[in-house]
Amino acid sequence: MEIKIQITTQRIAEQQQPPAASLGARVEFRGVVRGEEDGQPIRALEYEAYSPMAEREMHRLITELSAAKPCLAARVIHRVGIVPVGEAAIYVGIAAKHRAEAFALLAAFMNRLKQDVPIWKRRAIGEAPESEAATPCAVQSGAVQSAGEVLKLVGEICRPLETERISLACAAGRVVRESVCAREDQPAFDRSSVDGYAVRLDDTATEFHIVDELRAGDWKPRRLQPGETVRIATGGALPREKLQVVMKEDVRVEGGTIAVLRRNHERNIRFRGEDAKAGQELLGVGVVLTHGALGLLASVGCVQPLVTRLPRVLHVATGNEILPPEQTPKSGQIRDSNSTLVRAFLGQWGITPDQRRVAEDAGQINSEIRSAKSGVDLLLLSGGASVGEHDFTRRLLEEAGFIVHVSKTSARPGKPLIVAQRGETVAFGLPGNPLAHFVCLNLYVRAALETWGGQTRRTDFEVGELAEDLLAGDNARETFWPASWQLLNGKAMLTPLRWQSSGDLTALGSANALVRVTAGAGQLPRGSRVEFARAERT
Ligand code: AMP
Ligand code: MG
Repeated sequence: MEIKIQITTQRIAEQQQPPAASLGARVEFRGVVRGEEDGQPIRALEYEAYSPMAEREMHRLITELSAAKPCLAARVIHRVGIVPVGEAAIYVGIAAKHRAEAFALLAAFMNRLKQDVPIWKRRAIGEAPESEAATPCAVQSGAVQSAGEVLKLVGEICRPLETERISLACAAGRVVRESVCAREDQPAFDRSSVDGYAVRLDDTATEFHIVDELRAGDWKPRRLQPGETVRIATGGALPREKLQVVMKEDVRVEGGTIAVLRRNHERNIRFRGEDAKAGQELLGVGVVLTHGALGLLASVGCVQPLVTRLPRVLHVATGNEILPPEQTPKSGQIRDSNSTLVRAFLGQWGITPDQRRVAEDAGQINSEIRSAKSGVDLLLLSGGASVGEHDFTRRLLEEAGFIVHVSKTSARPGKPLIVAQRGETVAFGLPGNPLAHFVCLNLYVRAALETWGGQTRRTDFEVGELAEDLLAGDNARETFWPASWQLLNGKAMLTPLRWQSSGDLTALGSANALVRVTAGAGQLPRGSRVEFARAERT
């Protein structure tokens, strides 16, 4: 079958050379821009495309569909840019042996076009003069980008946020921004590491007279004479140098004396400075404060560490169908799971977002976006990110002065993704489907949080091994496959989880990783080396 695809910014001529076929039927279709959009009169529609990929996808789509609907030749021309009312945005010509086959292929192609091909209506241009209609967006057109490109972009548009000093009690999960050094030797004095009896190293006697008792916290320097010992508790400061502590299990106490039953070369002392010397760096810039690290800071008296402030986050979940999870949905409604997902995801960084739930109403969403004035660092909008009639996210962000950098990704799940920026505020328009939400949060929003935090970033993707076959199908798009991972004999082993649609939720119950499946990978057998991103803050 002969297939010709063309994306053009030029007018599609009235007369087209139909696809060549010596016999049989030809059907031609022209999609002409109508003078109305969403009930409003318009002058033109602006189409945008990620051209190389759109051409590839259309080619792939026709090849796939013609397996069931055999045809001889197909020709598609899609116009992008501003297409005035009355002019064609698309021309499709199909040649087949029989008329019915040509119609069937045309209908199937037009049905799948919107869903599968990265071409979308960027905006409708109203009846106002062109200058007025076009001004609100000082926009670079956000193109379709791969996951890798989006990650790179996020790294570029986010800068580490300002710092603040906070108490250790609130510092878990924060990133330190100045290196922390030991102010004095650690430990600061020789300490007994056991409960026992301190004797002189050079004293080989087997019986000693107990002359004192030292408990943890005591400070009683003294010189021991041959034949003398002091009882000392774990953590107690030794009374002088050149001593050894014989464990209490190795002596027999008889009144005020001890008989040493066993004695070896173990001194049972934690010596001054053996853990860290004064001035030694204990934590470097960019380290995330784990509970262990906080304990370390407390031990050296660093009680107000300098850390990155938390980003201020506004999350707006949109949709007429969503309602709070504690309510029972009526037919057609669903529980809002994304708000809980987003809150828990951000909670891993200690961030508590300001959250709203609003109907699919441009006015309401608009006022939420506008309320995200200068104070908000991160604006998350759930739902409405795709190109459906009621998907306002992109337009509203543009109207509010955001520059849209990304409006679609080539990865799945999570194709309709918007990344936009206004000054220091970064907005993500996340697709409403929960699995897509999960993927976009864990890939892109995570990258933003890590960059803002100023933390030493680990690589976005690590390498592991599949514990089971991964049946990816022959998908033309890069896929992030939910999986659960665990460390086994030093290897990250990934078990792919079952999912079919980005609306599926069950995989979320155990997903803690996303396996990166390259476009067209088909089947990856158990044991394959794969890249994966962790879907948990570590
Ligand atoms: P949208 O991105 O708004 O087109 O939504 C895509 C799909 O995700 C639809 O099936 C929505 O019902 C669903 N969805 C949208 N928002 C939520 C949410 N907050 N919780 C669960 N599902 C949602
Ligand atoms: Mg919606």
